[in-house]
Amino acid sequence: MSAPRRDLKWWGWGDPAIEPELDAEAVAMLSERVGELTASPRACELEGFELPDPQALPAAVTDAVEPGGVFTSTEDRVRHATGRGYPDLTRLRSGRLPAAPDAVLLPADAGEVRRVLAACAAEGVAVVPFGGGTSVVGGIEPLRGSHERLISLDLARLQDVEVDRRSLTARLGAGLRGPEAESALSSHGMTLGHFPQSFEYATIGGFAATRSAGQASSGYGRFDELVDAVRVIAPAGDLRTIDTPHTAAGPSLRELVVGSEGVFGVIPEVTVRVRPAPEVRRYEGWIAESFEAGAEIVRALAQGPGLPAVIRVSDEEETQVSLGLSGLRGIAGKLFGGYLGLRRRRKGCLIVVGFEGDEESVARGRALAVRELRRGGAAYLGRKAGRSWERARFEGPYLRDTLMGMGALVETLETSHTWSRLGGVKEAVGSAIRESLAAQGTPGIVLCHLSHAYADGASLYFTFIAAARHGEEIAQWDAVKRSASEAIVASGATITHHHAVGRDHAPYMEAEVGQAGLDVLQAVKERLDPTAIMNPGKLLPSRNAATLRN
Ligand SMILES: Cc1cc2nc3c(=O)[nH]c(=O)nc-3n(C[C@H](O)[C@H](O)[C@H](O)COP(=O)(O)OP(=O)(O)OC[C@H]3O[C@@H](n4cnc5c(N)ncnc54)[C@H](O)[C@@H]3O)c2cc1C
Repeated sequence: MSAPRRDLKWWGWGDPAIEPELDAEAVAMLSERVGELTASPRACELEGFELPDPQALPAAVTDAVEPGGVFTSTEDRVRHATGRGYPDLTRLRSGRLPAAPDAVLLPADAGEVRRVLAACAAEGVAVVPFGGGTSVVGGIEPLRGSHERLISLDLARLQDVEVDRRSLTARLGAGLRGPEAESALSSHGMTLGHFPQSFEYATIGGFAATRSAGQASSGYGRFDELVDAVRVIAPAGDLRTIDTPHTAAGPSLRELVVGSEGVFGVIPEVTVRVRPAPEVRRYEGWIAESFEAGAEIVRALAQGPGLPAVIRVSDEEETQVSLGLSGLRGIAGKLFGGYLGLRRRRKGCLIVVGFEGDEESVARGRALAVRELRRGGAAYLGRKAGRSWERARFEGPYLRDTLMGMGALVETLETSHTWSRLGGVKEAVGSAIRESLAAQGTPGIVLCHLSHAYADGASLYFTFIAAARHGEEIAQWDAVKRSASEAIVASGATITHHHAVGRDHAPYMEAEVGQAGLDVLQAVKERLDPTAIMNPGKLLPSRNAATLRN
């Protein structure tokens, strides 16, 4: 790989060849719920894209990578200037960005990463580590802090793989995307089991830097739970932890690096815990009478016999809308309609349950899960409904581009709390989103599902859709995001279960960790990154106006 990747739509999500359309029935369902939408096509192709002129970089910085490793084309700068949250996509579609990196550097190995950071520290050039660019919280936004110049450090060439079958661990380069890591592991009969919805484009380094959680986290663990050892190359030197299943040697430095979002330095590789690839994967659909009944089933499993690899409960609105918008309408929709008709009910909540492992463990896990599902009043929809969810599990984000083109605001956010407080959080956050949208004259719909469950609680994932206010999309989004974030913080829930902090959640970090917690993180940053070149304006709240979103 001698050039940055260009296989993700530069203006949206996924394979450029795939642009799904909604059929008339789906469009009608949407208009009924959010009102008429006014189409909002993309402003231009890449040729017409407007970017600020790049600043020249010191030779010490550009010479730190091998010749041919520095890229300054409009396309490369655009591709490294934003993540994939709603404001990012809105700006990309507008054909104009207020800020972009001055250049993209593509180091060949960890040695070059070290040289680049040393040169940038000496010359005062800000560095944004770049994995797959899938951040939805402004994590790779080109904020310069107190520096004049900024590079995006694209880690795609860090592709090493070394598997230790006996210990069930693997050392994986930071630049491997989800499918690349899985394919390398599957040639050894292994899997990592980490399948976030951004799996196709996000990287191992990004997963570690953001404490990512995949859809099968109940079975395989979140990414932070899969990390055995990690290293960070910081401007002031390397910090590493040793490969060990556990250590009592003081507070965990592994945990300090995992989730550091590029503000301490660059994670060049991660040693992860892997599993034998499952012999059997069985996905099923169930239907609960209500969201609360579904949540109680998940709680009973988490606190009792244990959770399947995947378990998620959609609320009534999410069930209805996702059946209406997606290909699920055909298969699961019929089953679902049949079920409701039989019981003379209008609504129900979809539960997706996925079991993975060998024949015996799947059969045992399923028997225990089925007992709790039935005890909780859920009805079996069948394997087709589960399989269609599984097949479509990475397709949702493609639809977001379609909806934005139709003139919709579409965004997601997530949090988690303990079981006792989960219902209250759902109510508070859902109301905050609805009220903020209505106050702006664009009443919308709020969908929610429960996933990533634990014995003590679970995460809630919200999606909201409304008519976009043309020309004011980012202000509209900002108002809703702020209301939702304030509701989350007021409920005592976490500002993020897995999307990370980035720029968008940094103002809420004090509520999360307290002033002393912020001071500790700041002190670590000052030790590892004394000239504050690493990813300015992310993770830690900044009072520096230069780091605010443009
Ligand atoms: C459609 C969609 C679906 C998503 N679904 C999920 C989901 O199911 N679960 C989930 O957890 N997240 C999800 N996300 C969020 C995102 O994919 C994750 O945060 C992911 O871990 C980011 O990985 P990345 O390689 O794209 O990192 P980037 O977006 O490139 O970077 C994210 C942050 O990590 C830093 N960083 C990246 N690589 C390194 C490195 N090697 N060393 C140091 N810092 C680094 C960056 O500077 C930035 O601050 C989703 C995003 C999208 C767009």
